[in-house]
Amino acid sequence: MKAASFAYGRPNSMSDALALLADADGEIRIMAGGQSLGPMLNLRLVQPPRIVDIAGLAELRSVERDGEALVIGACVTHADIEDGRIPDVTQGVLPRIARGIAYRAVRNRGTIGGSLGHADPAADWVTTLAALGASVQLTSSAGRRDLAVTEFIQGALQTALRPGELVTAIRLPSLSPAARFGYAKACRKPGEFAHAMAAVLIEPDTARSRIVIGAIDTTPIVIDDSSLFGGAITEFRQSFDRDLADRLLMQAGVTDPAARHIHVSVLARAIAEAAP
Ligand SMILES: Cc1cc2nc3c(=O)[nH]c(=O)nc-3n(C[C@H](O)[C@H](O)[C@H](O)COP(=O)(O)OP(=O)(O)OC[C@H]3O[C@@H](n4cnc5c(N)ncnc54)[C@H](O)[C@@H]3O)c2cc1C
Repeated sequence: MKAASFAYGRPNSMSDALALLADADGEIRIMAGGQSLGPMLNLRLVQPPRIVDIAGLAELRSVERDGEALVIGACVTHADIEDGRIPDVTQGVLPRIARGIAYRAVRNRGTIGGSLGHADPAADWVTTLAALGASVQLTSSAGRRDLAVTEFIQGALQTALRPGELVTAIRLPSLSPAARFGYAKACRKPGEFAHAMAAVLIEPDTARSRIVIGAIDTTPIVIDDSSLFGGAITEFRQSFDRDLADRLLMQAGVTDPAARHIHVSVLARAIAEAAP
């Protein structure tokens, strides 16, 4: 099957892109790398009358430091991050995650902003950026607003994006040198979307921690009070409460015991990496 016909616009500047988005009287779709939108168009799961292709906008490929944070343009590709073409403020977390996304052909075109805009619960950036405390910059002709990734993702394929708005950048705080990060996912075969994933961030110097359980068909489970899992951050691994993790998954709608078992095992692996 091929996509239904649509009008295609490829603006040369942000202001033209914003004008096109503001002007849309019907449904309009943004296209970045096309790695998720392309298949959806071809399967006719979406049939937008108009598409705005933002891949050529230089403003969305820029990366800059803002104090201790890194601001990554929405159209930076997974391959840009994997290959180290952008600075890293996460001690290797970013390139490691990028390397594990799909296949190289997908990573060459797929973008970090498109991954968040698509909001697949199993997307690696959704879980990772939530764990790292990142926020998204959303821009429309009316102005700009910032939202934490955890607020931006509102469900499976659902975001807080308003009509006329696009993700223009991701703001990523620097990890402290003492920070520890653990990540694990389970895929049926390499290159496929995961059916369980978890990210764990521990910052001993500030006594902060965050656990994120992703790939659960809804918003990720985010646990900031990791003492819930028993004891001090550094004792995570020994005191990890599998029953509590199981209950949280159940509450989030994961009713299949086998699926919960896989999620809990993946979480245990991420915790073991962050708190060896
Ligand atoms: C075979 C295959 C395997 C994959 N495996 C994985 C995987 O293991 N892990 C993983 O994380 N991902 C995986 N992906 C998805 C891939 O990472 C895509 O790159 C990503 O989901 C979408 O990025 P894109 O730039 O291609 O967006 P597009 O496909 O162009 O757009 C996707 C959606 O996001 C919206 N959008 C795009 N950019 C913006 C923006 N700046 N602002 C607002 N909305 C926007 C579009 O309107 C559309 O609805 C896989 C894809 C394929 C084809």
